[in-house]
Amino acid sequence: MIQLLNYINGSLTEPLSKQYINNIEPATGQAYSHCPDSDERDVQLAYEAAKNAFESWSKTPLEERMLMLMRIADGIEKRMDEFVAAESKDNGKPLKLARAVDIPRAVSNFRFYASAIQHFASESHQMPGVGVNYTLRQPIGVVGCISPWNLPLYLFSWKIAPALATGNCVVAKPSEITPYTAYLLSQVCIAVGLPKGVLNIVHGLGSKVGQAIVEHDGIKAISFTGGTETGKRIAATAAPMFKKLSLELGGKNPTLVFADCDFEETVKQVVTASFSNQGEICLCGSRIFVEKSIYEKFREAFVTRVKTLKVGDPNDADSNLGAIVSEQHKNKILSYIQLAKEEGGKILCGGEELGADQRSDRVKNGYFISPTVIDGLSYTCQTNQEEIFGPVVTLTPFESEEEVLMMANSVKYGLSATIWTNDLKRAHRVAEKIEAGIVWINSWLVRDLRTPFGGVKASGVGREGGWEAMRFFTEPKNVFVKT
Ligand code: NAD
Repeated sequence: MIQLLNYINGSLTEPLSKQYINNIEPATGQAYSHCPDSDERDVQLAYEAAKNAFESWSKTPLEERMLMLMRIADGIEKRMDEFVAAESKDNGKPLKLARAVDIPRAVSNFRFYASAIQHFASESHQMPGVGVNYTLRQPIGVVGCISPWNLPLYLFSWKIAPALATGNCVVAKPSEITPYTAYLLSQVCIAVGLPKGVLNIVHGLGSKVGQAIVEHDGIKAISFTGGTETGKRIAATAAPMFKKLSLELGGKNPTLVFADCDFEETVKQVVTASFSNQGEICLCGSRIFVEKSIYEKFREAFVTRVKTLKVGDPNDADSNLGAIVSEQHKNKILSYIQLAKEEGGKILCGGEELGADQRSDRVKNGYFISPTVIDGLSYTCQTNQEEIFGPVVTLTPFESEEEVLMMANSVKYGLSATIWTNDLKRAHRVAEKIEAGIVWINSWLVRDLRTPFGGVKASGVGREGGWEAMRFFTEPKNVFVKT
C-alpha cells in the first residue's frame, strides 16, 4: 500500500488523527493507497504555516516567483511517466489521455501563470487638473483551493498556479477520490525548494477538510470546482463571512447539430465531445440536438461510431474509455440509465456495465460502463435536465433555430455548448443567445489559457483563466493622489 501524506509547512506529515481512507483503483476495484483522513486540526496547521509564509512570499520579487513556478512545471515534466501512471490509476482514465491532456496541461498551467505574473498590470485613471488614481492589485493572503476528481492535477494546478503567482499562500484540498498526483506535486514542491508554508496540501473528506477550509475565518477566498450542490453549501457558509468566491460547478451541456454541418467531421467530433474521459469532463456535451432533416442519418452514423469505441483497461493503448471513477458513481450513472428507460427512452447502444467477456482478468472487478446513446425522450424529462456526468448522451430532433435554443436553454445549468454548422451568421447568432459561459463553434475543448473559463446559472459564479484568475486572487485598492 502506498501511504500518501499531507504537505504542511514544507514537510510531508501524517494527519493528526493518524487515520487514513482507502484509495481504490477504479479499473480493478482494489485499494492501493491510503489517503490521510485529515480534519480541522490539520487545516489549522496548514493555515498557520501559510499565514507565516505570506509576509515573505507576497514580497518575493516577481521574477523569483516566476522562476519557482517554472521549476515546479519542470519538476512535474521530469517525472511525467510517474504522474501519468498515477493519474490514470487513481481516476480510471486511459493512460494515453493522462499523457496527452491531464499532465501536460498541469505543466502548462504553472508555466502560463509564471509568465502571466510578469505581465500583469493594474490601471490608473487620471483626472485632468485634479489628480490621479492608481489601482494596486494586492494578494489576498491565505486562500483555499478545492478541486474535484475528474481532471485531478489539471484542475488543482489551474487554481494553485494563479494563487501562488499573485503572491498568496494556499491551503489546498484535492478530491479524496483522486489524491495521488497532488501528493506527487508536494514531492516536487519540496524538491524544487518552494519556501515552506507557501503551498499546503491537506488530504481528506470534503465534509471535514473542505468544510474546515471554507469555515476558517483566516482563509479569505475560496476557489472551488465541483458539484452544484456542494457549491451551494460552500456559498451558504462563505457568503455571510464575506469571502471572495469562485465557483466552477456542474453542467448539462447542449450540442447543436444543424443540417448544414460538415457531416462526417461533426459525427466524429461529437463522439469525442460526448465520451472523452468516460463523459466525466464538465464540458462534455450530453444533450445532442440534431436538425430533423438529418436526424436519422446522424443517429445511424453516430451510433455506428460509438459502437467502435473500446472500453477497457486504462493501461491498454487501444482503450478509448477507461473505468468510471468509483463504484458509487458507477451506480449513480446506471440509475440514470434505468430512469431514462422508465421515462420512455430507447437505448440505442450501451446502457449497461461492460460484460465479463469484454474484460481482461486484471479489470474484472472494475467499474466500466459502455458508452450509452438514448433517444425518444422529452427535453424536459429528468434524464435531460439533470447532470449524469458519465458516458451517457441523449439525441433529440429539432425543427428550427428558435426551438433548439429554447430546448438548449431549458436546463438550470449553463457551462458550455457546441454549435455545428457551416452558416457562420447563424453560428454567431446562436452563440450570442445560448446561456453558457463557453461556446465552441465546429470544435470542442480547444483551450486558450488566456480566455475566461466558467459558467452561468447553476454552473457557477465567476471565471477562471487568464487575467480573470489573476483578478480573483488579488484585491484591488484604489489610491488617489492630488496633483
Ligand atoms: P464534489 O462537489 O463532490 O467534490 C468536489 C470537491 O469538494 C472535493 O474535493 C470534495 O472533497 C470537496 N467537498 C465536498 N463537500 C465539501 C464541503 N462541504 N465543503 C468543502 N468542500 C467539499 O464534486 P466531484 O464529485 O468531486 O466532481 C464532479 C462535479 O464537478 C461535477 O458536478 C462536475 O460537473 C463538476 N466539475 C465542474 C467543472 C467546472 O469547471 N465547472 C470542472 C470539473 C468538474
